[in-house]
Amino acid sequence: MTVPRTRAFAWLVAAAVAVSATGCAAQQPPVRESRPVLGTIVTVEAYGPDASSTRRAIEAAFDAITGVEHALDAYSPTSTIAAFNADPYHEQPLPAEAVEILDAVEQLGVSDAFSPTLLSVVRLYGFDSTPSVPPEDDLALALAATRTFSRTTSSTAAFGRLRVSDPRLDPGGRLAPGLDFGGAAKGLALDRAREALRARGVRAAIVTAGSTTVTLGTKPDGSPWRIGIEHPRDTATVMAIAEWTGDGALSTSGDYQQFFERDGVRYHHILDPRTGVTARGLQSLTVAGRISGLESDVLSTALFVRGQEGALAYARERSVSIWLVDSSGRVRSSNAASEAGVTVRAAEDR
Ligand code: ADP
Ligand code: MG
Repeated sequence: MTVPRTRAFAWLVAAAVAVSATGCAAQQPPVRESRPVLGTIVTVEAYGPDASSTRRAIEAAFDAITGVEHALDAYSPTSTIAAFNADPYHEQPLPAEAVEILDAVEQLGVSDAFSPTLLSVVRLYGFDSTPSVPPEDDLALALAATRTFSRTTSSTAAFGRLRVSDPRLDPGGRLAPGLDFGGAAKGLALDRAREALRARGVRAAIVTAGSTTVTLGTKPDGSPWRIGIEHPRDTATVMAIAEWTGDGALSTSGDYQQFFERDGVRYHHILDPRTGVTARGLQSLTVAGRISGLESDVLSTALFVRGQEGALAYARERSVSIWLVDSSGRVRSSNAASEAGVTVRAAEDR
């Protein structure tokens, strides 16, 4: 969501077979539409009652996605969150989309690893402009300012903040704090798209924004959704395939989406909120399960930060599937409980 990306990140490897489960009656093929939105390419593939109502449903799905983008894109000067960030030292209402993300982070129990207050810290690295390793004092000050944000207890829709006295932290200043929901906005947007499709009679659909994918229902032929997971160091290779029928979601976070290297060290866009430094230990982490797109997007970022052991422990406790690649290229995985019916397997196992 933060900067335009051109590379789609997950492939829909499902063959769009237009045959019923019994194999006798021909089914309507899905309607497919791709558009540049959320800083990536979003593709909707939907099986609706007929082609024209399915097209209208897809239009509504893209409207829903654009609505989330207008609320939460911190890098667009006209977004609601940009207006909030323009004056970060006054308590202001937050857009409902932001409140929904904050609630999800809390409910998932990952506030230690997922923080929407890192805008100024991410900016210091200049991933989308001039990449540089931040000087230690800048990083320390920007990080200290992020910690002055807090959610008020009087209202679920506002942040109260302390004033911090350093001109660099003034509104509009180089290190001024701000809120950044880019680590979860795609997931929420895809959830809203899915609800728009469902409300308009679409019974089966897959919506992907590259790093996050959600599914609705089951394809008319009964075959599972199959989503390829790319290798973090060879993005043309599908290393694993996630599979399920019905509603579900999958997200991948990786150190190869926005990064630069200095003196042999890779700096990338997923930061550890405790230090403001690039999270170390993994190349990529995928989470899939009977969860919402928002939950999967929050979790892939948060579990990437927690690292291998923390991620695998969380996956077992909450029954989601995980596929991760550690910093030396070794794969570890854990599948959700079998009743969840969500599996992730090596591509060559198929
Ligand atoms: P992508 O945007 O490629 O799908 P993520 O969902 O992992 O990847 O989101 C990464 C983005 O989230 C970063 O570009 C940054 O804006 C923000 N971010 C970075 N670190 C964190 C963090 N620890 N918690 C919440 N958001 C983060
Ligand atoms: Mg995320």
